[in-house]
Amino acid sequence: MTETIAPPTTRPETAENGLAKAYDPRLVEAGVYERWDAAGTFQPHGDPARKPFVVVMPPPNVTGELHIGHALFVTVEDIMVRWHRMLGDPTLWIPGADHAGIAGQWVVEKELRAEGLSRHDLGREAFLERVWAWMNRYRGRIREQLQILGASCDWSRFTFTMDPGPSRAVRHAFKHLYDKGLIYKGERLISWCPRCMTALSDLEVVHRDDPGFLWTLRYPVAGTAEAIAVATTRPETMLGDTAVAVHPDDGRYRHLVGKQVRLPIVDRPIPIVADEGVDPGFGSGAVKVTPNHDPNDFEIARRQGLPGISIMNPDGTLNDAAGPFAGLGVAEAREAVVARLEADGALLGVEPHRHAVGHCQRCDTVVEPLISEQWFVEMAPLAAPAIAAAKNGSLRFVPDHFKTVYLNWLENIHDWTISRQLWWGHRIPVWYCQDCPEIIVTEEETLAACPACGGPVAQDPDVLDTWFSSGLWPFSTLGWPDDTADLRRFYPSSVMETGYDILFFWVARMVFFGIEMTGELPFHTVYLHGTVRDIEGARMSKTKGNVIDPTLVTAEYGADALRFALVTQSSPGNDLKLDLQKVEDARNFANKLWNATRFALRPIGEHRIELDAAGPVRPTVELALADRWVLSRLDATTAEATRLMEQHLYGEAAKAVREFVWSELCDWYLEAAKVRLRGTEEERAVVAQTLAYVLERSLRLLHPTMPFLTETLWAELPHAGELLIVAPWPAAAPRDEAAEAAFGALIDLVRAVRNARTEANVEPGRWIAAEVYAGPHAEAFADARRELAALARIDIDQLAISAGEPAAARGALTAVAGETVALLPLAGMVDLAAERERLEKELGEARLELDRAETKLGNEAFVARAPATVVEVQRKRRETALEQIALLERRLGELG
Ligand SMILES: [Zn+2]
Ligand SMILES: [Zn+2]
Repeated sequence: MTETIAPPTTRPETAENGLAKAYDPRLVEAGVYERWDAAGTFQPHGDPARKPFVVVMPPPNVTGELHIGHALFVTVEDIMVRWHRMLGDPTLWIPGADHAGIAGQWVVEKELRAEGLSRHDLGREAFLERVWAWMNRYRGRIREQLQILGASCDWSRFTFTMDPGPSRAVRHAFKHLYDKGLIYKGERLISWCPRCMTALSDLEVVHRDDPGFLWTLRYPVAGTAEAIAVATTRPETMLGDTAVAVHPDDGRYRHLVGKQVRLPIVDRPIPIVADEGVDPGFGSGAVKVTPNHDPNDFEIARRQGLPGISIMNPDGTLNDAAGPFAGLGVAEAREAVVARLEADGALLGVEPHRHAVGHCQRCDTVVEPLISEQWFVEMAPLAAPAIAAAKNGSLRFVPDHFKTVYLNWLENIHDWTISRQLWWGHRIPVWYCQDCPEIIVTEEETLAACPACGGPVAQDPDVLDTWFSSGLWPFSTLGWPDDTADLRRFYPSSVMETGYDILFFWVARMVFFGIEMTGELPFHTVYLHGTVRDIEGARMSKTKGNVIDPTLVTAEYGADALRFALVTQSSPGNDLKLDLQKVEDARNFANKLWNATRFALRPIGEHRIELDAAGPVRPTVELALADRWVLSRLDATTAEATRLMEQHLYGEAAKAVREFVWSELCDWYLEAAKVRLRGTEEERAVVAQTLAYVLERSLRLLHPTMPFLTETLWAELPHAGELLIVAPWPAAAPRDEAAEAAFGALIDLVRAVRNARTEANVEPGRWIAAEVYAGPHAEAFADARRELAALARIDIDQLAISAGEPAAARGALTAVAGETVALLPLAGMVDLAAERERLEKELGEARLELDRAETKLGNEAFVARAPATVVEVQRKRRETALEQIALLERRLGELG
């Protein structure tokens, strides 16, 4: 959107007609998104020679409604994207949705269960049709919710992980790794969910301390009267024991190594082996070895050349190798085995014992280590360049400390189990010939016959871990493996913004796949946000009933308020506690801005507002002190917001703009400007031009955070261009320090007068007399005498301003602010004793202030180490306090 249409320079009707009296977020937000979309603003525009800004959206799982965590990432990414669009970068935010593998299958299986069916009753094809129907239903819902939140992403590039493009990318990547020897099939001890009936990767197993027991069993040593005690948390697995292991240096057992024990119940002879992996301090120092059902034992068996015996079926029941216990579930088998051991005199003891137990991340079922034939990715060669990228700084983390977490994981990585015994997902692109031993890996979706013998082929029944396709996302969304224009233009992306909880699942995998498949890092900056918790800091969950539905919040307060509250309460890498009061505060801020704009639209509508290609022209002539001050404060805010945005401190940037709009523009400038709006035509025109300029710029600064409100208000103000979303981010002019100092002093004095009035119980509506001693600001105050009078409620005919020292002030209130003083004649309004007490209190405070400054300045370490400007601030503090003390003492004397 580079084309600009010059708007009318005069407004034909009273401008505030365009804005309703009261701010109603629902009315304000309706229709705005459609205008942006229809104008094509979400597609990348701008100078094609310029480096684009690209963000790939973490695709929400197509398994339900968006939650408040989604609202946070949408807000942060949309702020980045809108800001870069305003900076003039060709900007692209690619939306998408994830098929969610195991989670996707699980939701549909749950639906089926409610109908008394399982996926096996339907068969693979019918089941997948059902999942697709479900996915298509929610896909639209996700889009709708993203739009409600204001996500300015390019819908023409929306991608679903199961679309033909990304699916082909998955097959291409698989074949690439397979051909390179980095994908292999093997029998390994893997984590298995007996409920989901699938292998899981290490990351999909959640370890939790569960209460349990430690049983001590007695294994008699064959041919002797001795026995060995072994402790176990899983007595039922003893049916699969193939050895007893002790530490080689353990003197208690040295004479037994090489002998055999007779395994109770099964009466199988198994050897006693010495292995470094045994902890002699745990239990008796001797452990049973069950290679096929425990990862440590699997390693011991590998080192010792021991066989393994599998005693469990994939559904978690015991198999025929468990003899009389075959068919029992784990819990029943445990009870039966313990009873039998006890009856046989082989149970030495039992005690309560808490220990870490692995649970399925998806369904919480206890995970079983099982021997199974699975597909794996060999990780060491892929991890190495991903480690190097973080170490050499080409991959940056915000916040920085996640680099260590990332490196730690990659440096200790195991091979990745990528096959899943599911139906929903990307099918493994491996085909087995039914007539010859040929195995074919192909990028094609289907294979008709064996290329070696022409015989029939069958595809591997398993699907890939859902994170396999996610790892390709930054380039599969741009057309990879084809060399597309999009890929050339928009890859690598700029920032990967996502939750720190998926740093390993997703970020690390995108990095190593990106380097391996494209030879480039998929992005150079990783921005990690935290988890949204409830106000107490607890994780939101349906069972706790503390879930906040973002669509209910936006319906009540508006998306702008939710976005503002989320971003101002969050900081990179930290969890945030969502306080709905903050959402309400943000709505109140929106309301404040709405009312300020309505107020400003009257004078603006009555004057010709000068415009140029950038919008209202900055006024430069006939400026009053207040105008110069507000323009300079706008510049200061613009510079500060820009600096914070550059540092990814989006919440701080939003706060800085709010502070300016609310506490400076609304509280002071608008109030001060009212004086001249009652003045001459020339004065009214300057105020109108200043208001138009400052408001229009403020809306631009606030646009990334509150896009709907700002777009709506901007349309009512004189502006250049068609839509705020594509207006340029403002640049800051140098500050007017003299104006800031003088008007700042005026504000301080008004505050002091107001405080003095309040403390002396002067009625708020009463116009009073005042003698103002303004020191260096006397000239500026004289120019702004009408503003000073109006703001402090001083009768302008009884306002005297001078640069000199205050005269004797018997019977007057004294308001002191820095170098300025106002004497307010009491004229019988105030109790003199109370006034004395008040001055004494202030004198006490001024002395404390002096003490504090002197303590600091007396601290040699502080003076030596603090930056010169900081020391200077303390010197200034001391000076001011000394002046104030002198003044107050004099005033007290004058009270008599
Ligand atoms: Zn499970
Ligand atoms: Zn064949």
